[in-house]
Formats: sequence, structure tokens, C-alpha cells
Amino acid sequence: LNQALKPGPQTRPLNQSTPRLFPTEDLLPLDPTQDLIFPPELMRVALTEPQQTRWFRGERVAWVSPVSLEELVLLKSTHPQAPLVLGNTALGPEMKFRGAVHPLLISPSRVAPLFEVTHAPQGVWVGAGLSLTQVQMVLEARVEALPQEKTELYRALLHQLRALAGQQIRNVASLGGNIVSALPNSDLNPVLAAGGCRLRVASDGDREVPLDQDFFRGFRTTLLGAADVLVAVFVPETRPGEFVRAFRQAPRKENALATVTTGMRVVLGPGAVVRDVQLYYGGVGPCTLRAARTGQALLGRPWGEAMLQEAYSVLLEEVVLPPGAVGGKVGFRRSLTLSLLFKFYLEVQQALALMVRPGPGPAGSWTSWTCWVQDQLGPGPQDAVGRPVMHRSAPAQATGEAVYVDDTPPPQGELFLALVTSTRPHASILRYCLSVCLSVCLSVCLSQQGSAGGSQTLPPPPPPPPQVSCVGQLVCGVLADSRDRARRGAAAVRVRYQDLPDPVFTVELVVHRPLSSGELRLGGQEHFYMEPQSVLVVPVGEETEFHVYVSSQAPTITQEAVAETLGVPSNRVTCHVKRLGGAFGGKVTKTSILAAITAVAAWKTGRAVRCVLERGEDMLITGARHPVLGRYQVGFMEDGRITAADLQYYANAGNTVDESPLVVEKMVLHMDNAYNIPNLRGRAVACRTNLPSNTAFRGFGVPQAAAVVESMITDVALCLARPIREVNMYRGLSVTHYGMRFDPENLWRCWEEVKGRVGLGPRLEALRSFNQDHRWRKRGAALIPIKYGVAFSEAFLNQAAALVHVYKDGSVLVSHGGAEMGQGIHTKMQQVVSRELGVPSSQVYVSETSTASVPNSCPSAASYGTDANGMAVRDACQKLYKRLEPIRTKNPKGSWDSWTRAAFLEKISLSATGFFRGPDCYMDWEKMEGQPYSYFTYGACYSEVELDCLTGDYRTLRTDIVVDVGQSINPSIDIGQVEGAFLQGLGLYTLEQLSFSPGGLLYSRGPSQYKIPAVCDVPLSFNVHLLPDSNNPHAIYSSKGIGEPVLFLGSSVFYAIKDAVSAARAESGLGGAFPLDSPATPERACLACATPFSQRVPVSEPGSFTPWALNI
Ligand SMILES: Cc1cc2nc3c(=O)[nH]c(=O)nc-3n(C[C@H](O)[C@H](O)[C@H](O)COP(=O)(O)OP(=O)(O)OC[C@H]3O[C@@H](n4cnc5c(N)ncnc54)[C@H](O)[C@@H]3O)c2cc1C
Repeated sequence: LNQALKPGPQTRPLNQSTPRLFPTEDLLPLDPTQDLIFPPELMRVALTEPQQTRWFRGERVAWVSPVSLEELVLLKSTHPQAPLVLGNTALGPEMKFRGAVHPLLISPSRVAPLFEVTHAPQGVWVGAGLSLTQVQMVLEARVEALPQEKTELYRALLHQLRALAGQQIRNVASLGGNIVSALPNSDLNPVLAAGGCRLRVASDGDREVPLDQDFFRGFRTTLLGAADVLVAVFVPETRPGEFVRAFRQAPRKENALATVTTGMRVVLGPGAVVRDVQLYYGGVGPCTLRAARTGQALLGRPWGEAMLQEAYSVLLEEVVLPPGAVGGKVGFRRSLTLSLLFKFYLEVQQALALMVRPGPGPAGSWTSWTCWVQDQLGPGPQDAVGRPVMHRSAPAQATGEAVYVDDTPPPQGELFLALVTSTRPHASILRYCLSVCLSVCLSVCLSQQGSAGGSQTLPPPPPPPPQVSCVGQLVCGVLADSRDRARRGAAAVRVRYQDLPDPVFTVELVVHRPLSSGELRLGGQEHFYMEPQSVLVVPVGEETEFHVYVSSQAPTITQEAVAETLGVPSNRVTCHVKRLGGAFGGKVTKTSILAAITAVAAWKTGRAVRCVLERGEDMLITGARHPVLGRYQVGFMEDGRITAADLQYYANAGNTVDESPLVVEKMVLHMDNAYNIPNLRGRAVACRTNLPSNTAFRGFGVPQAAAVVESMITDVALCLARPIREVNMYRGLSVTHYGMRFDPENLWRCWEEVKGRVGLGPRLEALRSFNQDHRWRKRGAALIPIKYGVAFSEAFLNQAAALVHVYKDGSVLVSHGGAEMGQGIHTKMQQVVSRELGVPSSQVYVSETSTASVPNSCPSAASYGTDANGMAVRDACQKLYKRLEPIRTKNPKGSWDSWTRAAFLEKISLSATGFFRGPDCYMDWEKMEGQPYSYFTYGACYSEVELDCLTGDYRTLRTDIVVDVGQSINPSIDIGQVEGAFLQGLGLYTLEQLSFSPGGLLYSRGPSQYKIPAVCDVPLSFNVHLLPDSNNPHAIYSSKGIGEPVLFLGSSVFYAIKDAVSAARAESGLGGAFPLDSPATPERACLACATPFSQRVPVSEPGSFTPWALNI
């Protein structure tokens, strides 16, 4: 550290590089038996050594850490463009995602005045450097110490702070950083401004600046100059008669930037007359905005409903968003400006009337309960089947020891491949300009080889594809010897395009039919696996042999793609899959393409090549679940029976075929969901568009298909004002629309069990009475069934093979064709071996899935992994067990280990392959009949939500699921699958929204724009039950496939929201069916409620403007 002590900013030229902080040769070697601790020596130095300015200089950036405010101010005046870095949560994303480069960064973390808290007579000065968590603690202490009327502003700030970002961000993000970075939807700035806060600013001297409407100058700019340092913020106490409130509406309750956020303050005089009012909004313009004229309209008027009507009109004129405004959701945002003012009015009214505030609504503690009945445990204590054995990798995954592709240590000479993607939806590529890119890569090679004459090892760039057909299409790859350089090289590639006419993004152009009786539009869904697409290709160095370490759920498909691309036989390519950090269908075709490209690079250079996508590029390139437009016409009887239905599905396939035809086939097969519709016709079309190609996703079309059916059912029920699901569900021995026979008994058992467990009658009664008592909050409920076909309809995909080795010490090594992607297949295979060989599952190990051990494996998909591979493993084990029979007969009391040793001595093979042919499923599309599944998995789910009609915010109060998984091989894993699938479905139908620009660019390329469910979205009461006494003759040990079926049950939350919306609409005099698209985001739910606020917002004529985002 002392090497970094430097005398002062002026004396160090910026280009002088000191990349090494200390000589590593002086350090003791690492002792792996010892835990690493923070070196006490460094702590001592920090406490005792005199504080001095420190400079650290890297290749492109220097970092300086001053120790006094004077020095900080001096540094800032010398380098006004150098930003201060506190939490790095605003600056960091700019550098990482938008390529901002700052040659000098100033860290004020040791400048004491920025971290002081000073109490003054009328408020508190809070250091601008304090983290938001520290600010929270300061304010909480003030709220504790002061009478309530003085802490209105503090409590409003706390309200925002608790919802702002997540705990990790709040722990590092600073107060000053939030104010100065001036996000248009900062949650703090509107409240600080409304509350009349002041800022202490240091530059030439000290000055105080009011934080008011003049402070915010435009998008992320304030009146502070480049050389100004924000030192502290004065947060005043409130006086009697003063009320401050803050509200925010965000796409998710936690860790989501607000759509609209507000801070509002009013001072009431005698007779509750408004003496002063400050209304600030975020999220409705380029910066925090004061609704000054609206405030003016309230001045001098008594606080009451009468003043509001005029205020709404002024507010609508004052806060205007153009119809194509950045961020979209224009109608919703404008509606929120009104409804949040109304909320402010209500809360002040309640405070004035000293009414007891309504409780915190549905928020409360979570309860969760899961249940299964152990009705078929094996005979011996060794037998693990049916027991809730912990997931084999759980400890390693929880501790970070689990190895993923990118954890593989780099082989000697490894190169990194970065990808360049198209920025045009439909264009010809005229030429590549690689000079800058090659200069980055050339310097890389030279610096690594240590000689100026080092050869340029890059292969010549590949011939460009003549055309691109979506933004995000791969156009070339850049190789370098580090990840960073490859990415910088890729960013430097310039591609010249010539646009081609008429790119198509939505399915509308394909849809020629006249308007039908109802429709549902379902958005796509990003796979959002934890581990992005990753591959490492290592050439062996002889006979064109390659090892491919890959995160793939279809190792054989990857092997074939690589072999075919390189023109070598499959026996030269071995794919190794240790485990995947999630896949959900997204790691079949897309992974194979990436592996083939990476293999070409490895083949050309003769070096190992790694390609690991960043989250943003993974989301951009690899496609998603198919968005679908579903349309239906339906005929029904007065008693609710549906007599005929005609359904059409238009799936947005994107720019290549991928698995889209198979996805739409499965849609047609599931267009009955659980209902017996005597006259049922359906068509599904995969529409080619200029979006990135969509692909398989858990459920493979069923979640879209069944949701359209349920919308149709819901519409009929709304028309008739009575539930109609039960009268239409399959009953007794039944036949599907494609002629497959089945018995829906267990569907009904699941259904009835859910009804019984939730006490449906009284619950719905309570819900109705809640809705009568509440005008702006409504509850809704839905009970939804699922009948899900398991297995591949292409019979050959149902086969599986396994290889089981028993070693002389009795330990067992299992290889099978299934890939472990979190679903627990390896754990279940251990359990199968345990039962078949009679050994404890701890003696069984599954190392990896490898094409060298088990050839020609089928993808782990279709909820069929355990069914197929379990049978193959069982087959291998039974062979081995049989071979050991003579040994066991000779020594019946012997142990397993003694038998295996004896078998070796007696020259009995302790290795066996197993094979499972799989069911001969088929579908004859000419005749429209077949047996495309081995069996059905059934389930039912009840969900209840509470919706805030003013904001569209909702909370799932309770969910009860009963699923028929037959005799569960591992109930804890199955319940985990049920919980995970349900939440992924909840995300699909209510939360996750892919948004594309009008030019076909995916906007939502990371967790800040794309929200998957978080802990806050788990139902407050979440109960999962596995149906007892269920048998399934079609699968191993009478179990059932469970990976996909429950995802659809997440739609129960969608339909519960729709139910709540329908109650809200009834208050506005609107009855009957109404459209609600999926996902039912707060925006859609709020607008569908048709409150007086959303009704006031003028609607722009479609076609008269370019919307910010496409409605896919
Ligand atoms: C995942 C995520 C979620 C978020 N969610 C929310 C949210 O819900 N609501 C919300 O309001 N915000 C949210 N934010 C924004 C976050 O609150 C701000 O990024 C943070 O407060 C900035 O503080 P920082 O210390 O990290 O700033 P840094 O990134 O360190 O600096 C940001 C800028 O501020 C300047 N600066 C910092 N301190 C001073 C100072 N004392 N004087 C002069 N200039 C200064 C720097 O020069 C720099 O330009 C989120 C951010 C992330 C990453």
C-alpha cells in the first residue's frame, strides 16, 4: 500500500503506470489449510499511519484517494471531469454497459466531512458520502427520538429508502450519489425537494443550495458545476400542520426502479386550508419535476374532494408526456400522477381525521407448507427411493464450490472469443472495418509474447454473411488472449450495412382473419438462467480430437453440431457437461450454435477457446419463449357448457426456424387444457419475423396454449356471471381431441383437494365482502387445472442409455444421458441405483454427462429426463445385480463391498450399460390423431391476490397447489420443482416483459430492465401438496414427470388479478368480458380497472405517433 502513497495530485503525471501495489515475491505462499483473514497488519496501518493521499494507476485508469476536503476540492478543480466514486452504483453501470471511460477516478471515502451527521435546531445535516443504509439508520433514530409531527419528512424518506433498490445496493450507494446522479426516477430527490432540503456544496468556498425545482436542469444534470463537491444535506424537521408523503410504483416491489415516484408536502392552516404545497414527481420527464401550477391550484383551498377535481385538470395539462416518450407506459404514468395525488389526499385526510390508518394491507409474514405422503417407501433402510434426499449438489452450490464451465481453469494458451452482433433488423452487410479491432488484438498478442516481432495469431476474419435478419444476429467473432481484450476488440468492429425494406416484428401482418370473439396476447419470456451460455473447446492436439466443456442440456446435439461444422466424425468430439446453472429449454439449439462457432476458432488456432456470454448479450442473442397472439370463437349454453370452440395461435418465431414448428404443434395438442369441448378446432402458426429467433422454454408452448383456453373460459364465465370450469372439465374415461384415451380421475382429485384445503366457499364469501368494503383495493381469486402430456411425441427421443461401473471398493459410478441443470436428476439416479443394488446412495456418484460414456443421448427435456434415464440406469443395475447373484448366494451374509471384491477375483464384469426404448408415442398430423404422450401429469392451483386499483400493484395472498406426481421418487426435489415452476409461471403471466424498440432492438437486456420474480413475489401463504395414493404404470417406480407441468399454474395469479380487476370495473359500472394481456403488469392491471383516474388521461390515436416500444 505504501507504494501508492504519493505526495500530491499535481506531481503525478496521469500516464505514469504503477500497476503493481506490492512485490508478490515477498508474500508467504498460500496455506490451503488456513482460512484467509483480512491482514491485521493492514488494519494497524489504517489506524495508526498518518493519512496521506494515495494514487493507484492502471493501464487505462488512475484512482486517487485524498484525505481532506481541501485536497478533494483541489483535485476536483484540477480535474473537473473526474467523477467522485462512492458506491459506484451509478458510475459503474455507465462504465460497464455504456463504455464510459474515466481516466481519473476520485474516491472521497476518507474525507471525513462527507460522513458526518450534525444535529441542528430544526433538522439534521447528513453527510453526502453516507450510504443509503446509514442514512436510513440516522433517520430511524430521529423518528425514534422526536415527536411524530416533527418526523413527517423523515418517515416519508424512510418509506422510499425501504423500497429503493435492494439491501446490497443501499449498503454502498451514497446519498450524494443519488442526488447528483439525478436519475429521472430517483426516489429520494422528489421527497428531499418537496421537504425543502438544502445542500452544502464546496468548491471555491462553501455555499448552500436549496434542493428545489431549479436544482434539476435536465436529464441527469443539476445546477452543480463539474468542480462542485456535495458535502452534506440538511433534512428539516416538520412542524404541526405539515404533512409529507412519498409514493412509488415500480414493476416489482423490490429492486426495481420506479415507474413513477413522488414526494408531496402540504402545510395546512386553520380550517385545513392549504397554506403551502409542494408536489414533486419522478419518472414523468427527463428529471425530477415540480408540479408548481397544480400546487398553486390547491393554495388557499380547504383540504377536501372539491379542490381535487380542478387539481387533476391542471396536473394533466402540467405533466405531459408525449405518446412516444422514452420508457413507454405513457397512459399509465399519466394516470399515476393523478392517482398518487389522490393517495396523498386520502392519507392526509386520514391523518387529519385522526382515523386509524388502514393496516399495511396484505403485507405480512410468509407462511409456506409443503406436504407429501410417504406411501411407497422401499423395503430396506438403504433404499433411498421415495425419501426427501437432499439435492446432490446443494452444499456445493450453496458454498460456491460447484464447478460451472467458466470455473474451469484456463488451459495453456487459451483464447477468448467475443461476438459481434448485428445492429440492424434486416440488412445486407457491405463490409467490416476491423482496423481498430485488430489493433487492440495485435497489441494483446505482442504484450503477451513479450517481443515486438510477435506474430499476429488471429485467423483472417470469416466471410461476412450476406444478410442479417434481426438485431442481435451473430456477424463475427473476435479472438484475443483475454476476455477483456476480446470484448474491447469486438466493440471496435465496425460493420457497414445497407438496410433492406420492411422488417416485420409482430405477427399482426400474418393474421388475416377478421376480428373474432376474444383474444389474448402473451408476451415472451427470457430464460434468465443463472449461468449464461458458456463453452470451452480444447483441441487435444492430435487426430482432430476435441474436448468440449459446455453448459448444454443436449450434449449429443452439441457434439453433432461441432463434428459436422468441423467436418470430423463424432468420435473425435467429446462433450462434457458437469452441471448447468439452469437451462429451461434455452440450452439446446442455441448452445450448439455457439459451441460450433467456438470450435471453429479452436480448430483454426489450434488453441483452447472459451466463449462465455455476458448477461446482456445472452439476452440479446439467444431468443426467448415465443410470444403468442391467441384468438378464439366460442359457443356455449346457458348452463356454461362450451359446445364449440375455434382457436388460433400465432407464435412469433423470430428470424429462424429453430424448434418453432414443434412448439406450435404442442400448442395444438394442449388447446383443450383440462376441458372436454365436443367441437374443438385449432390452428397454430409459427410466424417468421425480424426478431431474434425464439426457442424451447419450459412448457414448450403449453403455457401459451392453455392460457388462451383459460381466457376463453374466463370470458364465458364473465358473460354468464358464474363459474364454468367444473361443468366443462373432462369427467370419467375420456378421449382428447386427437383421440388419446385417459382417465381424469386424478385431475378431479387434485381439484377437489385444493377446494377442500382452501375452504373455497367461505374464502370466496370473505373475498366478496372485502370487495364490498373497499373501493380502491380489490381481491380476486382463481382456481385453475392442468393436464400436461409427458414424453416426446417423436418416439425416438424417448430412448435413453446408461453406463454403471462398480469399483472393487464397492463404490458406484453412474453415467447417464440426462444433464443436471438444477432439476435434481443426478440425485434421483443415485436413488434408483440405491434401490436396485441395495447400497446407500452415498456410495453412488454421478460425475458428469459425457458423450464418451453414454452416446446418442436425447435432450433433457419434455419433463422426461428421469423417466427415460431412470429406466436405463435401472436396467444397467439389474444386469449387475444379476451378475452378482452367484457371489451373493455363496456368501449371503456378506457386505456389498465384499461381494464386489469377490466378483472381481472371480472375473465377473462390474460394468454394465443399460437401455430404455421408451414409449412409442406418435402423432399422425394427416389424420389428426395419435398417442403423443406417455401419460398426463395433473394438477390444480388456487391463488388469491389483492390489487391496488390506483397503482396496479398486487400481492399474492395465498396459493395452494395440489399436483399428481404419482409416487414421488424424491418429494423434496419434486416440491422444489413445483415451487420453482409455479414462480417462473407467475413471472411469465404477471411480471416479465420483453420490450423491443420500434427498430427491433431488445431493450430489456439485464435485470434492471427485465424483472423475474423475487422473494417479494412469493405468495404470502404458499402451500404445495403432492397428491397421495397415485400410481402411474407408465414411469419408473410409478412416478411422474414434473419439470414443466406446474409452470402453467402460475397463471392462476393472472386470472386472480383478472378477477380483482373485474370487481374494480364493476364499481365503474363495467360488466362482462374484457381483455387483459399477459403479463398482467401493474400497468395493464391498473388501466384495465378503468378507474376515474385512468379514464381522465387522453388516449393518443394509434398510428399518429411512434411508440417507444413494440407491442409484441
Ligand atoms: C441495481 C440498482 C437499483 C437501483 N434502484 C434505485 C431505486 O429504486 N431508486 C433510486 O432512487 N435509485 C436507484 N438506484 C440508483 C442508486 O440509488 C444510485 O446509483 C446511487 O445512489 C448513487 O450513489 P453512488 O454512491 O453509488 O454514486 P457513484 O456511482 O459512486 O457516483 C455517481 C455520480 O455522482 C457523483 N457524486 C457522488 N457523490 C458526489 C458528491 N458528494 N459530490 C459531487 N458529486 C458526487 C459522482 O461524480 C458520479 O458522477 C439503483 C441503482 C442500482 C445499481
